[in-house]
Amino acid sequence: MRCVLLGPPGAGKGSLAGVLKENFGIVHISTGDMLREEMNKQSPIGIQIKELMAHGSLISDEIVTALVKQKVRTDTNLAKGYMLDGFPRTIQQAVALDRMLIKLRQPLNFVLYMDAGKDVIVNRLIGRRVCRQCGALFHVKNKPSKKLNICDLCGGDLYQRSDDNEETICKRIEIYENTTKPVADYYAKQEKLIHISGEKETADVRNDLIRILNEKKSD
Ligand code: AMP
Repeated sequence: MRCVLLGPPGAGKGSLAGVLKENFGIVHISTGDMLREEMNKQSPIGIQIKELMAHGSLISDEIVTALVKQKVRTDTNLAKGYMLDGFPRTIQQAVALDRMLIKLRQPLNFVLYMDAGKDVIVNRLIGRRVCRQCGALFHVKNKPSKKLNICDLCGGDLYQRSDDNEETICKRIEIYENTTKPVADYYAKQEKLIHISGEKETADVRNDLIRILNEKKSD
């Protein structure tokens, strides 16, 4: 199974990724995580993108597409499939992805499109905390960890992403509306788009997703 998770920041793509990983055993490929890893390693790419990432701006199509191509072509753990989270974010990236997957004879099966209102998104992102070690997601009000700033799953430190502040969140939403939303139309034309509400609780999202994917199997 190969799919894309599309939607504004904070729509719940991370929770959706958890459900897909747990139920279908497919690998989560997040370009945001890959770019943050480059920054942590202080690689030449990491140094180059630091400012743009801090301000919520998009990284160039060339850099991000090259990272994804490298991953999809060389990672031997992708046999069961994968979900691309945060990629493609521009039409150019979507076209480059299609070209690569056609060459590999591995087309995308579907694109899960999650949406949520601006107030929901801003509240979710401002309160979001991420485990430095395992990437698990928490929220200071909606899903607090049992011990302050300690991950319930692995005991790692929880941190707040530097781009999860109100000013940067608003900029990321604006970039999403102008540049990434058209990618949903691109996939709708290919009849690959599946809509999932991002305003529901994770348990309801899980049920919706499993029902939709089972319906697709029996089509
Ligand atoms: P995310 O973790 O998906 O919210 O991404 C965090 C940041 O990484 C974004 O605000 C961008 O600066 C950068 N980024 C992630 N994916 C992409 C992409 N496909 N194209 C350009 N920039 C990206």
